[in-house]
Amino acid sequence: MRFIDLQTQYETYKEEMDRAIAEVLASCQFINGPQVAKLESTLAHYVGVREAVGFSSGTDSLLAVLMAWSIGPGDEVITSPFTFFSTAEVIALLGAKPVFVDVRDDTLNMDPHQVEAAITPRTRAIMPVSIFGQCADMTSIHAIAKKHDLSCLEDGCQSFGGTHHGRRSCGLSHAGATSFFPAKALGGYGDGGMVFTDDADLALQLKSIREHGQKVRYHHMRLGMNGRLDTLQAAVLLVKFAHFEDEIKQRQRIARYYLDHLPAGVRGPVVLAENQSVYSQFTIRIARRDQVQAALQQEGIPTAIHYPVPLHHQPAFANIIDKSTLPIATRAAQEVLSLPMHPFLTVEQQDRILDALARAVAQHG
Ligand SMILES: *Cc1c(COP(=O)(O)O)cnc(C)c1O
Repeated sequence: MRFIDLQTQYETYKEEMDRAIAEVLASCQFINGPQVAKLESTLAHYVGVREAVGFSSGTDSLLAVLMAWSIGPGDEVITSPFTFFSTAEVIALLGAKPVFVDVRDDTLNMDPHQVEAAITPRTRAIMPVSIFGQCADMTSIHAIAKKHDLSCLEDGCQSFGGTHHGRRSCGLSHAGATSFFPAKALGGYGDGGMVFTDDADLALQLKSIREHGQKVRYHHMRLGMNGRLDTLQAAVLLVKFAHFEDEIKQRQRIARYYLDHLPAGVRGPVVLAENQSVYSQFTIRIARRDQVQAALQQEGIPTAIHYPVPLHHQPAFANIIDKSTLPIATRAAQEVLSLPMHPFLTVEQQDRILDALARAVAQHG
């Protein structure tokens, strides 16, 4: 059994995929080929924004937006401690300070009620993370950003395709960024990412930043990076995107089945009424998580921990925040366990997982 089954996905789309990749190889337009612009316009339309700019990763997408906003030393950016490292890494890379506010206990997304208290005269932006496939409370957070004249960037690296009040993740604030890392709900065959925005000026700056700050070739107006999305990845993503809506439905069906059959003592993921999750992860919460994970491993059930260390406990941030704060994120890191989740998971496999989980919980829970 696989935690994420990219092999079955490839076998299922093999003909289209091989053709799309062969087209790129035949064209030899590996950089800025037509597939990149096609993917950008296709996904901008899907998200419901005017502009999309492809990048070499989700991390570079987030970094480029903060660069375009000239965030740097002396600035603060409010974000979540319960996320992948790069959310706060990009803030600190630019010399700014990540300011963590705790998450809600039900969704593990940023708690909007704590945001205003964290705003100081140095605050420049708020960076909510939409974790496990479900949007953060973007309505409240974007409203706080507007009220205080701050920029708002949604880290939608896990939530692409998810909706909040019927609108798509990444299109809910000034800018949203996603990742096409292979394990994401919409993943390529390597690294990739994209920024979405209605701000035409921001999009222009992002296009310059991803090519070393140039406006015209070899004329550099500012510092940028080598941050382009490969043509090959764009071609792969166009093939996968054609199946994405079906895959989301499968993920939601699989999540429903898990939720209906979780053993007692296991907390399933909570999705709020205004949200639809893409379940990029199906993450349960459980006492004695490590023992349960080991018992599942013994039975051949692969699991993962997203994430074992909250960001305010990461050695890289040891000098900026008191470890004893943020109790909800701290406890969640000890309880979370992600079960196998991908669109090709069968009911038989889910039953095996659920049976093993019930046994593990009875023994250790
Ligand atoms: C995956 C992920 C990233 C980073 O994306 P990469 O494409 O791996 O650089 C950032 N934030 C979150 C929440 C993620 O899940």
